[in-house]
Amino acid sequence: MERNLVLKAEHIYKSFDTLEVLKGIDLEVYEAEIVSIVGASGSGKTTLLQILGLLDQPRKGARLIIGGKDVSTLSKNKQAEVRNKDLGFVFQAHQLLPEFTALENVAMPALIQGIKKDVALGEAKRLLKILNLEQRSDHKPNEMSGGERQRVAVARALINKPKIVLADEPSGSLDSKNKEELHQLFFDLRKEMGQSFLIVTHDESLAERCDRMITLSDGVVKAISQRKECE
Ligand code: ADP
Repeated sequence: MERNLVLKAEHIYKSFDTLEVLKGIDLEVYEAEIVSIVGASGSGKTTLLQILGLLDQPRKGARLIIGGKDVSTLSKNKQAEVRNKDLGFVFQAHQLLPEFTALENVAMPALIQGIKKDVALGEAKRLLKILNLEQRSDHKPNEMSGGERQRVAVARALINKPKIVLADEPSGSLDSKNKEELHQLFFDLRKEMGQSFLIVTHDESLAERCDRMITLSDGVVKAISQRKECE
């Protein structure tokens, strides 16, 4: 069966002054695939995710294709549109807006996208229900547990039906029970919605559960391992 490519990156190089952080990365993520990026601290994982998320610029000559569109040569404004519409983000710190409720936080990327308020709020409500957070809709971030906040951040990442969700240490600040729940949520969303994820993680149990594990070392892909058994 032909699989759809949701993200393809070629020739990704990045330096900060004289420090060469990424030295020619190529990678692909397919529809309904969960890929992990692992590697020692300082190996360039976050820098790579920032570039793939159009939050930082690689050296000239890189190619980045998201949902079949070559976005590498787009203007900054057009890249921002792609970032909001086609990409979802989950960070270690939830980065929810403290003055807004869970429902409003989740709806925010859709409102920015110009979706009508009632439609955006309706979709946000639907996602909160799927993520078992219905009863938290009207709560502000400081009225929720760490695990709940992170699940709200996942709902926010999904609101615009992104081609792929980029997650940087999403469970890094959670205890083991909440960590396991969040990881399970990624696999459930893949199964139920065909959602793709690219996840930077130090968590070995998560990395090994992913369809593919990409190991970065000193700015290059050192290994790609394919998961053996079925989920
Ligand atoms: P990882 O996520 O694998 O820990 P990072 O991508 O955060 O690695 O960092 C890779 C290297 O790049 C590190 O040596 C880090 O200090 C450096 N680095 C990251 N961002 C910047 C920046 N904005 N300016 C200068 N150096 C940076």
